[in-house]
Amino acid sequence: MEKTPEQRLWIKANIPEKLWRDYHWQIQNRIRTKEQLEKYIKLLPEEIEGIERTKGLYPMAITPYYLSLMDPEDPMDPIRLQAIPRVVEVDESVQRYGEPDALKEDGPIPGLTHRYPDRVLVQTTTFCAVYCRHCMRKRIFSQGERAIGEQQLKLIVEYVKKHSEIREVLLSGGDPLTLNPEKLDIILSEFRKIPHIEVIRIGTRLPVLAPQRFFDEDVLKILEKHSPIWISTHFNHPKEITPEAQEAVENLLRRGIPVLNQTVLLKGVNDNPEIMLELMRKLIKIKVKPQYLFHCDPIKGVIHFRTTLEKGLEIMKYLRGRISGYAIPTYAVDLPGGKGKVPLLPRYLIDSDGTKHTFLSWDGQKVEYDICEF
Ligand SMILES: *Cc1c(COP(=O)(O)O)cnc(C)c1O
Ligand code: SF4
Repeated sequence: MEKTPEQRLWIKANIPEKLWRDYHWQIQNRIRTKEQLEKYIKLLPEEIEGIERTKGLYPMAITPYYLSLMDPEDPMDPIRLQAIPRVVEVDESVQRYGEPDALKEDGPIPGLTHRYPDRVLVQTTTFCAVYCRHCMRKRIFSQGERAIGEQQLKLIVEYVKKHSEIREVLLSGGDPLTLNPEKLDIILSEFRKIPHIEVIRIGTRLPVLAPQRFFDEDVLKILEKHSPIWISTHFNHPKEITPEAQEAVENLLRRGIPVLNQTVLLKGVNDNPEIMLELMRKLIKIKVKPQYLFHCDPIKGVIHFRTTLEKGLEIMKYLRGRISGYAIPTYAVDLPGGKGKVPLLPRYLIDSDGTKHTFLSWDGQKVEYDICEF
C-alpha cells in the first residue's frame, strides 16, 4: 500500500536529490494553480470546479513532496482528498451545517485563545506548506499569507505576562515552523523570558507536508535552544509515514524534542479501523506518540469530511488489544462554543450496582468483577 521511494519517482523524476531535500525548494515550488497541477494529475471535474471556486477563500498549495505521495490513478487517494480542493467545499447544501469559527477561537486579543486556565494558543502565522482541505482553521486562509506582526506579538506577550496561571504556550497557525528562523527565535525568546512559562508546544504539520524543514540545522538549533519544547504534529494516514518523515522525526528526537501526533478522523481518508491501526503502528515505529484522535469539527468548508461518533468509537474498540497501549490515542471531541475538549471511550463498564460490575473485555467477553472498598 505504501509507496516505495522508487514508486514516487513519477514526480521526483528530473529533480536532483539535493533540491528535493531542500525545504526552500519545496516551498518555492508549491503547486498553486490548476495548470500546474494538471501536469502531474488528470483532474476530476469536481476538482477543476473546486480549484476555481475556492480561489481566494480556501486557496490551494501543495508541496512537490506531498504531491509525490499521491497515487495519480486513484480518485479517492487519501493524500489527494486532503490536498486538492473539491467543489463540495463551497456547496452550501452541505456546508451550511458548519460555522467558520465553530470553536470560538477568536479570543481576548486577536491571535490568542485562552480556553483552559493553564495554557494559551497563539496564532503565529497564516502560512502553511500545504493548505489541508480539512483544516479546522481554514477561515484564516482568505487573509493571505502573513506572519504575526511585532505589535500584535507584544500585546499577546503582555497578556501572558499578566496571567501567572498560564504555564504553557501553544504556538499554532498556520504553521509556526514555516516562519523564518530569526522570527521564530524572537517569538520563542519572548515567551521563554516569562518566568511562569514552563513548556512551549508547537503545532506543526511540516513533518508530514515538508519534512525537509528538519534536514538542516536552521530550525532544529533554535528549537533545542529554547528547550523544553514539545511538538504536536498531524499524520492522518499511513501513506504519510515515509523515509523523509522518519528522518525529520529522528532529527527532532536527537535534539531532545518529543513528537506527539494528533490525527483527525476524516471520512474517506482514515475512517477505517484497519487503516487507523496501521497508522498508529507506523507512528510508534518512527517513535511518534499518538496523542489525540479528534472527531472532525463542524467547520464551514470541512463538513463533508465528518463521520459519526459511532465510527470513532468502533475504531477505538478495534485498536484496544490489537496494539500497544501507548499507541492508542485519546479519542476526543472539541465541544462547540469553546467549551473545550472531552475524551470519549467505548463502553467497557456495562453494568454496575456499585459493587458488582460487569465489564466487556477487549475481545467482547462479559466479565463479572466485584470491586469494593475496605
Ligand atoms: C486544544 C487546545 C489546547 C490544548 O489542549 P490539550 O488537551 O492540552 O492538547 C489549548 N488551547 C486551546 C484553545 C485548544 O483548542
Ligand atoms: S498544516 Fe495545519 S493549520 Fe495548516 S492547513 Fe494543514 S491542518 Fe491547517
